[in-house]
Amino acid sequence: MLNGKTALVTGSTSGIGLGIAKALAKQGANIVLNGFGDAEGPQKEIAALGVKVAYHGADMSKPIEIEAMMQFAADKFGHIDILVNNAGIQHVAKVEDFPVERWDAIIAINLTSAFHATRLALPAMKARNWGRIINVASIHGLVGSAEKSAYVAAKHGLVGLTKVTALENATTGVTCNAICPGWVLTPLVQKQVDAKALALGLSNEEAKKLLLQEKEPSMQFTTPEELGELAVFFCSAAGNNVRGVAWNMDGGWTAQ
Ligand code: NAD
Repeated sequence: MLNGKTALVTGSTSGIGLGIAKALAKQGANIVLNGFGDAEGPQKEIAALGVKVAYHGADMSKPIEIEAMMQFAADKFGHIDILVNNAGIQHVAKVEDFPVERWDAIIAINLTSAFHATRLALPAMKARNWGRIINVASIHGLVGSAEKSAYVAAKHGLVGLTKVTALENATTGVTCNAICPGWVLTPLVQKQVDAKALALGLSNEEAKKLLLQEKEPSMQFTTPEELGELAVFFCSAAGNNVRGVAWNMDGGWTAQ
């Protein structure tokens, strides 16, 4: 379905980004990976799916490095058809205790990086009259949780950026949508499980159960593979007129 297309997925050396990259590769898209984790393993996994793969280690908090990554992808594959803004970090603390440097980093990586990658990807997408921009927001783009001020602010901002990008391109073949996952058991969430286990003297399994119990009626983690399939849908012909949605995959979190 995506043969000959190129997808750039930020923050794709692990977790959700890697899951989405693999799902798009299975549909035939060439992939540009990015992120700070091990890049060799993911590159091998994706190459084994029979597509071309490249990696750029841009720090998504640095606009100049984002520009270099976008240029690298264009030089390597000619153009970017699918941009998945996924890189993200978390920090948990009350507003009055929130380290200013962590606030700035979360806004830069979880929100501002998507603006830069989007503004740099749009001209070539519009010129070809086809493009997909998928912003990995979060359920925290729709509702709040205590002690996550920077993350919730950034993700609400990302849902806003999604709507405006969709509207500005509504008469073109370029769509922009957001994915809003609930809990996904990735390194980002495992850190929160570990913190809960330590604070409450719980086992890993007990801490995971408590985390789910607080928010997700399904008592199940969403998987990177499931989120990958949602990204594939946005890229399909059936997704041609899906514009500016913030689509949750959250085990019922926001239905409550
Ligand atoms: P993860 O920690 O597995 O992946 C994050 C990726 O971003 C990694 O590849 C990491 O190296 C990369 N990254 C971090 N800082 C970077 C930087 N400055 N420059 C470039 N890359 C950087 O976490 P994940 O859970 O897969 O998170 C992916 C996205 O999904 C994030 O935006 C996160 O907010 C969002 N999300 C996660 C969950 C969840 O439950 N795990 C839920 C909702 C939304």
